[in-house]
Amino acid sequence: MHVVIAGGGVAAVEAALALRDLAGDRVSMTLVSPRPDFVLTPMAVGEPFSAGHAGRRHLEALADEIGIGVVAGAVTRVRRDDHTVELTDGSELGYDVLLLAPGARPVAAYGHVHTFAAEDDPTALSGLIADLEEGWSHSVAFVVPPGVTWPLPAYELALLTARDVRAMGLDDVTITLITPETRPLDVFGTEASDAVAGILDDMGVAFEGSAQADVRAGGHIELGDGRTVDAQRIVALAVLDGPRIAGVPRDENGFIPIDGHARVIGAEDVYAAGDGTTFPVKQGGIATQQADAAAEAIAARAGAPVTPQPFRPVLRGQLLTGADSPFLRRDTADRHGETAEAALWWPPTKVAGRYLGPWLVEREPRRQGAPAERSIDIEVPLEHDVPDAAG
Ligand SMILES: Cc1cc2nc3c(=O)[nH]c(=O)nc-3n(C[C@H](O)[C@H](O)[C@H](O)COP(=O)(O)OP(=O)(O)OC[C@H]3O[C@@H](n4cnc5c(N)ncnc54)[C@H](O)[C@@H]3O)c2cc1C
Repeated sequence: MHVVIAGGGVAAVEAALALRDLAGDRVSMTLVSPRPDFVLTPMAVGEPFSAGHAGRRHLEALADEIGIGVVAGAVTRVRRDDHTVELTDGSELGYDVLLLAPGARPVAAYGHVHTFAAEDDPTALSGLIADLEEGWSHSVAFVVPPGVTWPLPAYELALLTARDVRAMGLDDVTITLITPETRPLDVFGTEASDAVAGILDDMGVAFEGSAQADVRAGGHIELGDGRTVDAQRIVALAVLDGPRIAGVPRDENGFIPIDGHARVIGAEDVYAAGDGTTFPVKQGGIATQQADAAAEAIAARAGAPVTPQPFRPVLRGQLLTGADSPFLRRDTADRHGETAEAALWWPPTKVAGRYLGPWLVEREPRRQGAPAERSIDIEVPLEHDVPDAAG
């Protein structure tokens, strides 16, 4: 069975590793990626603060390790009738099974502020920190726009900025975090939320929750309920748009609809995993769980002795705080959560993937995957109805 995987990110690499492990040589694989390397984008947040390293790994190295082909390019169209994908350079590739893992497309929510994209040049934020440290700016706001479902990078940016400027003795710099969430990192339960609120407080980061932020000219931010914040510097997270690949079913925002086994609804022999799917939480750990579900389903089809399990989403998040932090766990039955005494998953990489984590750590334990910075690890199973096999 020839499997084409479109993508070179978290879901694509997890799926390739999982499929090779589960199906062995029952499958041959070709990875199609516009970039030659895998980048662990979540670690990019730490780069401007020397608190982590995104790490770049050549996909050719992965190809050599697990015996797959790599083709440079992006899939522009899927011709489902003849099981063929068209690539940017006009070439074509046939498949028996196609796994789409193209991620989502970051879009700036506001016209005149710095939008933090993980692939930014780290010096863009270093300039901001230098401005604060040298007294050119005295206030900065980190904004989570409405519609962003993974707000954690904004917390990390705010806390790491605070750590740096407070270490310089700059107590007059105002740092504000603006987010639609009612409480800090609400989804992780009250215990985690309280812990994060305490850290924000200790680091002198003002929290403005329940905000539908609208950024106006001159650094004026309206929060939607009469509250306003003014800041000399503003950094916003991007909102995400779907991959919109021709020939692939999509919802109104361009995302690919999948069932519980990561099969694309309405497209035979096509699977999808990661941020490009309609699953509402766009997060690396979730992307790997979908990739594992797809790999199991494909391996079983190829005749491997695997019983495919439907995707059961569990949020595993690691928040870089710059402060001493506990490990926090919450399950759906317990609104509050609890403090655990040890790491919640192993290896403790920023993106918790069954195959991706060990793959990252085994190769470069000091730099890849695991933060150099102190962090809070949080684990929460999500209550979410994933459509069943019938879609
Ligand atoms: C700043 C930031 C911080 C984050 N922090 C965390 C965190 O702490 N923990 C966490 O779990 N998650 C975090 N995330 C989210 C996480 O990075 C994503 O959820 C994850 O990368 C999604 O994986 P993916 O494979 O779907 O997409 P990506 O990792 O984005 O990979 C998509 C790949 O597909 C390729 N591609 C695009 N279009 C095509 C095409 N048409 N054909 C073929 N290939 C294509 C791209 O080049 C890329 O290689 C963070 C995200 C950001 C932006």
